[in-house]
Amino acid sequence: MTTAIAAVLEEVGRPLVLREFPLPVPRAGETLVEVIACTLCGSDLHSLHGRRPVPLPTILGHEILGRVSAFGPGTNGRDAAGQPLAVGDRVTWSIVASCGDCFYCRRDLPQKCLHQTKYGHEPLRPGRELTGGLADHCLLAAGTAIFRVPPNISNAAACPANCATATIAAALEAAGPLAGNRVLVMGAGMLGVTAAAWTRALGAADVVCCDVAAERLALAARFGATRTCSTAELPSAVAELAAGHGVDVAFELTGSPEAFEAALPQVRIGGTMILVGSVFPSRPVPLLLEQVVRRCLTLRGIHNYAPRHLAAALAFLDENREYPFETLVAPWQPLSAINAAIATPLSPPALRSGIALP
Ligand SMILES: [Zn+2]
Ligand SMILES: [Zn+2]
Repeated sequence: MTTAIAAVLEEVGRPLVLREFPLPVPRAGETLVEVIACTLCGSDLHSLHGRRPVPLPTILGHEILGRVSAFGPGTNGRDAAGQPLAVGDRVTWSIVASCGDCFYCRRDLPQKCLHQTKYGHEPLRPGRELTGGLADHCLLAAGTAIFRVPPNISNAAACPANCATATIAAALEAAGPLAGNRVLVMGAGMLGVTAAAWTRALGAADVVCCDVAAERLALAARFGATRTCSTAELPSAVAELAAGHGVDVAFELTGSPEAFEAALPQVRIGGTMILVGSVFPSRPVPLLLEQVVRRCLTLRGIHNYAPRHLAAALAFLDENREYPFETLVAPWQPLSAINAAIATPLSPPALRSGIALP
């Protein structure tokens, strides 16, 4: 095979166009992978519909699972965890390839690398077009943290690992120890159910999950939430379990200003709010600074993650297989049906549509 095929977003609001590109030979530090499957994340949908700026034309898709096809010179035959890596191995990789040496890389923010390649978010560069998952091949740039996927993790569970699951890993690290804590999760999408399952696995005593959709709340209950509620029910739900003190940690995963406004009063004095969902522009929210000070609150933003969080995500999925993560992906579609897959509404348990390559 000397060519690759990819679904290209040429214009916002228009169907993706299948185009052929020459199959690249990996250069120094690069790795070529065959795409096994790719799920579409909320960010991809925001890009498709023009809510999130993206360079055009581009190949979307960053929740990618691949199989190593060829190594470029200078790759060392090891994955980012130090395990042997060979042609044919099933792999996932960090959403951002980073240089390791710039201002942000040196400050433990490799996802903000000044010389980054971000999968599913790059313009088409001649000869180096294959940077998104909606394609049959993907070319991994030097500086990509590649991880072999443990054999017991299904393709469907593995696809979102390098976005949703790893982002929750970063959010959990920012939140600190959760054993015995009361946790609030705003939003019961892929991030929310992952956060519910993982905070429970870490020993959280109570996990309240809040969403506007009853069927997503039912899903959250299957993923470890101890209590589910609508936004209107949230104050009473938290009051009942926390004797009026509020939750220790709240994770805002929706990006909705209303969700933030509902959640902040539920955080206890000295508690922490981790903001993850606001990855697209929204209206400002009123924030009484005196309340932040008097209540000794911590507000922390988390965007993407570092390679160690992807390693943690894979370990979590491997060790917590009682949660049916594989059911969260709708039946796989071929790349040729990508536009129909995007247009088909999802209903829980499906939270992601995805393509699989034959
Ligand atoms: Zn994503
Ligand atoms: Zn860098």
